[in-house]
Amino acid sequence: MIMDGRVLSKKILEEVRSNVSKGLKIRIEAIAYEEDKESIVYFNSIKRNAEKVGISFNLRIIEGEKIMETVESLNGDDSVNGIIVGRPFPKGVTNEMVSLSLDPDKDIDCVTSQNLGLLNFGVERLAPATPKGALDLLEYHGVEIRGRNVLVINRSVTVGRPLSAMLLNRDATVTIAHSKTSNIKSLIDESDIIFLAVGKPGYLKSSSLKGHKTIVDIGINVVEGKVVGDFEPDVENNDFAYTPVPGGVGTVTSAEILRNAVSIAQNQ
Ligand code: NAP
Repeated sequence: MIMDGRVLSKKILEEVRSNVSKGLKIRIEAIAYEEDKESIVYFNSIKRNAEKVGISFNLRIIEGEKIMETVESLNGDDSVNGIIVGRPFPKGVTNEMVSLSLDPDKDIDCVTSQNLGLLNFGVERLAPATPKGALDLLEYHGVEIRGRNVLVINRSVTVGRPLSAMLLNRDATVTIAHSKTSNIKSLIDESDIIFLAVGKPGYLKSSSLKGHKTIVDIGINVVEGKVVGDFEPDVENNDFAYTPVPGGVGTVTSAEILRNAVSIAQNQ
């Protein structure tokens, strides 16, 4: 089964549009470091969706050293509801700096220590867009998480760590793997659901899977000009379900950012 994200993404955007049309005024400011081409592409795709649903989205492409002062000035601007900063950050700017300085009440990608910390108390006041998109996509396709053995291959602050907390909140049994994990093959064999965010095309092939598996492919890689994930469905085999790349988790992620912006604006 292919678990497409496009229909869910449209559904979320419809929900956002409906909320905005009830009179919510939302202004998002995105900050991208000038050399961070990937964030610029990503933010432009969110901007297109934002404009379709009536949200104002301004992208600031700035020099690396101006990131922190730009965040501070947007924190203090009452007309701004949401702020998102592109990653990876340039030299001199760290995850901790952004996480501690961004206003948690404008944190539409859930990167602040306050909003990330709440996930560990089981409170998803706001949720980071990528893990939330991945989990919503599973739920949309009727995949049960509760009680399942789930493997997350990634331990980054944007993906693996918040995703693991959110999986625990949904009663999964969670294992986290990374580049220093020695027995990934056996962990894969023992898992029901595998979240892949390694950033290596062909990292996991369907021909190597034993028993029924659900693969949530978060990886985004460009190979010969084509966008591909980390999973390669290389054999015809009905015994697995997966999210495609493109058209899977990434498609839902950008809609989740706008849903977070609505949730923030509704509580201001
Ligand atoms: P990252 O910080 O580089 O994380 C990569 C993770 O993979 C790390 O935990 C790393 O382990 C692990 N890893 C690397 N090689 C491995 C191996 N051979 N075996 C097992 N684990 C291995 O990158 P990221 O920002 O989290 O992004 C990861 C991927 O997800 C990228 O392809 C990115 O483009 C994609 N992504 C997609 C979305 C979306 O919305 N769909 C959003 C964000 C990111 P160590 O910690 O030991 O280095």
